[in-house]
Amino acid sequence: MTSLTEVARTRPIPTAMYVDGAWVTAADGATMETVDPSTGKAWNQVPAAGVADVDAAVTAANVAMTGEWGATQGPARARLLNRLADLVDRDADRLAEIETRDNGKLIRETRPVMGQVSAWLRYYAGAADKLAGQTLPTGDPNYLVYTTREPVGVVGAIVPFNSPLMITTFKAAPALAAGCAVVVKTADQTPTSTLMYAELFAEAGFPPGAFNVLTGQGATAGDALARHPGVARVSFTGSTAVGTAVMKAAAEHVAPVTLELGGKSPNIVFADADLDAAVNGVVGGIFASSGQMCIAGGRLLVQESIHDELVARLKARAEAIVLGDPQDPASEMGPLVSQVQLDRVLDLIASGVADGGTLVTGGGRATPATHADGYFVEPTIISGVRPGDRLAREEVFGPVLAVVPFRDEEHAVELGNDTVFGLAGGVWTRDVQRAHRMAKRLRCGVVWVNCYRNTSPHVPFGGMGQSGFGRENGLDAVLDYTQVKSVWLELSGATRDPFSVPRG
Ligand code: NAD
Repeated sequence: MTSLTEVARTRPIPTAMYVDGAWVTAADGATMETVDPSTGKAWNQVPAAGVADVDAAVTAANVAMTGEWGATQGPARARLLNRLADLVDRDADRLAEIETRDNGKLIRETRPVMGQVSAWLRYYAGAADKLAGQTLPTGDPNYLVYTTREPVGVVGAIVPFNSPLMITTFKAAPALAAGCAVVVKTADQTPTSTLMYAELFAEAGFPPGAFNVLTGQGATAGDALARHPGVARVSFTGSTAVGTAVMKAAAEHVAPVTLELGGKSPNIVFADADLDAAVNGVVGGIFASSGQMCIAGGRLLVQESIHDELVARLKARAEAIVLGDPQDPASEMGPLVSQVQLDRVLDLIASGVADGGTLVTGGGRATPATHADGYFVEPTIISGVRPGDRLAREEVFGPVLAVVPFRDEEHAVELGNDTVFGLAGGVWTRDVQRAHRMAKRLRCGVVWVNCYRNTSPHVPFGGMGQSGFGRENGLDAVLDYTQVKSVWLELSGATRDPFSVPRG
């Protein structure tokens, strides 16, 4: 196991799961190791939850719904979420360092993410005491008719490796604001920061069972959670293949799902764009987080007349990127999360070249001097990619930019929408009318014009097509975790008998 810095050492690193307000091992004692992707070495060991552990967590969450947590009113839930946000701010350095240790994302990315986590918690704290029903004017004065909003019940949250605390919060903050109890299944590779998050839930005073964390493998613990009849709603973020399996498992017990899945988003640069801004946006859109972003702008669609200039500028930027220790604030790109991911990305790069693409830069494994065993890949650009090539169609989840030239606006729309996915898209142009036309015509859940990757708790986020359905973030996300009950109340006191036929 590798050693930790002083920041991480301020408290022991958790190695148990958090269920019903207690720290537990797997019922059968199974464990699994987590690996620091920057060194390839194991650094923590956590339980590998089995079906019995999932059942225990879901049962505890359902008991919480009928007990102290279920009786907690909106203002009190708001106070708890705000207190949790304060604790995240207090421990942000520690949480960021541990998240970086687990998934290899740069500390200069994970540290600001912790500020977003607390911002999201405060946003949904603000919603917790504003969930109201309606009185409905049916036109019949003999009845008072009203609706109430009730929490759906226990939420099963299954999260990916690339931003564990942020994505857990996308789900848990609105669910808890609505009064649901939550069972989180962390990604196989990245359990540790979420266990630390659970420590803060305990410290904030959330009652036992309101928030539970299971660590374990997707095929066992994740599947058991999606399939459990005690889970009222499943919120999943991950790959399209696994999302499809989760949807089928949830369908077995008629639980609705939110699916935030993969993408192959186009970043579209017109000849009239501010090229300095576009270069920054394209670089950030594909090389940040080593490309391990669902919203990665993996397809650069560039207007023919500026193709060579833009590619040359991107090449220069890519070749200047400093790869290295993700805990070092000077590093500009870290490793991929695992050997599996490294092999997958290298295979897709090879396919891009085999299909006739031109390797502009990168293309291989990188071995920074201090971290030669880490899972690093060079920032890679491949031009001349054709729309039917694997590299134009499959999500890479790595730092690989596929460049496809386009003639005009019509062609850009055609290429932009030529994908089974529909998560995001970027448009770079100085023409305001074109900007709006493109925003309307691109078939995806988020369009950024002259910017890329912006997110906010105020703004709905989610995909179209095989990027999934449902929206996280924004006020409406809370409503997903509620269900509406309608109540009819007879007011006149008349003794009605709608069944009997009047006899005359
Ligand atoms: P993944 O699909 O392999 O795993 C996601 C989660 O599902 C993990 O917790 C995993 O353990 C679990 N899982 C695996 N098999 C399961 C099964 N049979 N039943 C239930 N759960 C199971 O994804 P990943 O590799 O962790 O993350 C990368 C993927 O996530 C990419 O496709 C990326 O685009 C996507 N993603 C999407 C968004 C979004 O908001 N749309 C955000 C981040 C990541």
